[in-house]
Amino acid sequence: MRVELLTVGDELLLGDTVNGNAAWLGRRLTDHGLEVTRSVVVGDELDVIVEAVTEALGRADAVITTGGLGPTNDDVTRDALAKAAGVVLVRDPVLERRLRERVAAAGRELRPMALRMADVPEGAGLLANSAGSAPGLRVRLPGGTVYALPGVPSEMRTIMEEVVLPELTGVARSRGHDLPQARRVLRTAGIWESELAAALAPVEALDGVAVAYLPAPAEVRVRVTAAPDRLDDVERRVRGLLGPDAVYGVDDETLDRVVHRLLAERSATVATAESLTGGLIGAELTGMPGSSATYAGGMVTYSTLLKQTMLGVPADLLARHGAVHPDVAAAMASGVRERLGATYGVAVTGVAGPDPQDGRPVGTVFVGVAGPEGPPVVIEPRLPVPGTGAEARGMIRRMTVVHALELLRR
Ligand code: ATP
Ligand code: MG
Repeated sequence: MRVELLTVGDELLLGDTVNGNAAWLGRRLTDHGLEVTRSVVVGDELDVIVEAVTEALGRADAVITTGGLGPTNDDVTRDALAKAAGVVLVRDPVLERRLRERVAAAGRELRPMALRMADVPEGAGLLANSAGSAPGLRVRLPGGTVYALPGVPSEMRTIMEEVVLPELTGVARSRGHDLPQARRVLRTAGIWESELAAALAPVEALDGVAVAYLPAPAEVRVRVTAAPDRLDDVERRVRGLLGPDAVYGVDDETLDRVVHRLLAERSATVATAESLTGGLIGAELTGMPGSSATYAGGMVTYSTLLKQTMLGVPADLLARHGAVHPDVAAAMASGVRERLGATYGVAVTGVAGPDPQDGRPVGTVFVGVAGPEGPPVVIEPRLPVPGTGAEARGMIRRMTVVHALELLRR
């Protein structure tokens, strides 16, 4: 069952609107085991839409369009579908009555242009829209079916979930397609994509199992796709191959939420001492509701002097090694833990660039965590330094945040 997407709107071409509809549709359709084979963006131009729809149905079984169903002159999707089908637009009496009622209820006057919303290509089906006023349209053409949905994301999603997805999966099943595949995202931090791929080769080799690697700074989400009744087993295998602690969360369990949950379960708190991240770790740890139970507070000690005066990092240590050193990270973590009275202290010091510092190259970072058990733990994460300049600086800072949260979690 092949589906193509056609998102309509000048604002998409111009970059004014990010094409969230296409992203969401791709994800949702694939979730249901439907194959999305192409996604095209066109402007608000009648003939271009006609051509795109016609071409798409030459390849795919169904086309889903979004946008251009509104009442204004630049909304031409309904006209385009009529033209593609070789039919005229007819005014739907039920839609017209509803439109008039709604406008009257709002105490406004109906402008003739608004009545365009009641026009549908002759013979088209209406797709009920419980999230808004304008229904979607179903137009059957010789090559397949077009589902035309509003551009407003919430309305588009509602019609998809309530009408289009059930209909398309029903058709797919009736044609003897396999059960919809299910997906699960297993989240890792601090492990390189190439290492994951090497470790997970046995899972990739399984029949009927697909593995995708979705990287973000210092994180890789491993998305496994398989029949629903096999997912638990696939997850067990992945965890077995990567080690018991490598997967920090599943699906939308983000690292900050996992850390917060683990701290809350132990009634523990954390304090942060940040240098190169300038408060980003604190921001991350205060992003979720209820974070006051687990986040004590933090100090941004950007200058070397403040590391000494605010955190008690020994002056001779700083004089000997500079601020970017594992022992400094350890002393910062212990210092902030003690001074803010938290269960854990987490600290980062490093070189975000663009210039080296204290003889250390850009991308050198030390992360320390001090806790109630034993001396502080310090790691030097291997950061793939992404070039130079402002973008690299941002990447290094973000990767440092992730490594700090991950060390804290473990
Ligand atoms: P309306 O009846 O509101 O005019 P419409 O079907 O004509 O709906 P558009 O006018 O194309 O849809 O878009 C309505 C809103 O939805 C706009 O705010 C637009 O930015 C947003 N939108 C449209 N297409 C997309 C898309 N592909 N991804 C995300 N948002 C979109
Ligand atoms: Mg519009």
